Amino acid sequence: MKGYVDPDVCVGCGACAASAPEAFRMNADGLAEGFQEIPAESIDDARDAMADCPVGAIAMR
Ligand code: SF4
Repeated sequence: MKGYVDPDVCVGCGACAASAPEAFRMNADGLAEGFQEIPAESIDDARDAMADCPVGAIAMR
């Protein structure tokens, strides 16, 4: 499973990268991105980050 961030929706708050750093990081444009297959032990954190994104920019699949 991997995280996907819609760059047209993300406002770059950084919350997902802070709370689920194994799933999301901030890129050079100041927006979040899913950057790797999420380790099994980090999937719950990634799901929480998806739920907590203030603009609903995150999907996981
Ligand atoms: S929590 Fe949402 S708005 Fe904030 S950086 Fe992550 S994807 Fe972007």
